[in-house]
Amino acid sequence: MKETIRVRFAPSPTGFMHLGNIRAALMNYLFAQKHNGTFVLRIEDTDQKRNLEEARLKIMHDLAWLGLTCNEGPDVGGDYGPYLQSQRAGVYQEKLQELISMGSVYRCFCTHEELEQKRKEQIAAKLPPRYDRTCLNYSQEQIEDLLKQNKKFIWRLKLDEHKIIEIKDCARETITFDMHNFSDPALTRQDGTCTFIFANFVDDVLMKITHVIRGEDHISNTAIQAALYDAFDFKIPVFWHLPIICNTQGQKLSKRDFGFTLNDLKEAGFTHEAIANYLAIIGASFENEIQSLDEIIKSFDLDHVRASGTIKYDFEKLTWINHQWLQKISLEDLVNRAKLFVYDAFEQSK
Ligand code: GLU
Repeated sequence: MKETIRVRFAPSPTGFMHLGNIRAALMNYLFAQKHNGTFVLRIEDTDQKRNLEEARLKIMHDLAWLGLTCNEGPDVGGDYGPYLQSQRAGVYQEKLQELISMGSVYRCFCTHEELEQKRKEQIAAKLPPRYDRTCLNYSQEQIEDLLKQNKKFIWRLKLDEHKIIEIKDCARETITFDMHNFSDPALTRQDGTCTFIFANFVDDVLMKITHVIRGEDHISNTAIQAALYDAFDFKIPVFWHLPIICNTQGQKLSKRDFGFTLNDLKEAGFTHEAIANYLAIIGASFENEIQSLDEIIKSFDLDHVRASGTIKYDFEKLTWINHQWLQKISLEDLVNRAKLFVYDAFEQSK
């Protein structure tokens, strides 16, 4: 039986969406549409404390504005919810217990200060900074003693340093991770909650995600997550690491660059058609560059977007695409959209 494609967009509610986020959401959406798959929205809200609700609503509003409709998510529901990580603490603890029973994790009692000191020493000795496994070597007696003293600890995954794990990546065919190069990762924090790496993995497993499409900055997380799939003997999904978007100087696009956030562009009057159109075609070559989302879905081909490395944010090109869209939009529609800007300008002038 053919596998049903399931992808997800998993933003952290930071209060704004930047172009890298939007492009990840767009690629997930296009991929799902192209393969008659399911596009899941999962909000990764375990780290953020303030304005969570507002930030979550903003993400949902922005996705809807761009026309990226989710098939499952916090507002539409679905069979694999809840879709807010803050409501999933129980499932992370269950999976952690499984790893504990399998003997794949160990308690690490090292303090932040001790870890920082070790890191400095390793760097000074020109060694790669890695956790030195002090706590892996503790006897049962020593562990019980530390627990009696109420010493705080975290759980670390015990990586098999002899293992080489291969994953499939749409942009690169395969990526090989030599576990010898990685530290045993922390799966929990000292307060007992689970780390991003672990929660994100558990959710992908339980939500039956078949393709993980996200920014290239997550590659080292992918290595650790591949080790987690391996520890459980679960099938590793296919990954697609998207290139990082850079400014004209070749640096990672940041808050200092105008047009970094979707808000910048929205407020400057860019149309959602142009933004989606631009983000879908950058880093690839399309014969016809001006396309609606529906047209892009038809012409969307992985070979067109196989690029790895970085892609340059070309603001002039985006402006040109926006200009093309402004000419395509009906006069009535254009007037309605323009009205909002006129009202705002009027309000501000009062
Ligand atoms: N919450 C993570 C982020 O916003 C998710 C990364 C992922 O897609 O796995 O970067």
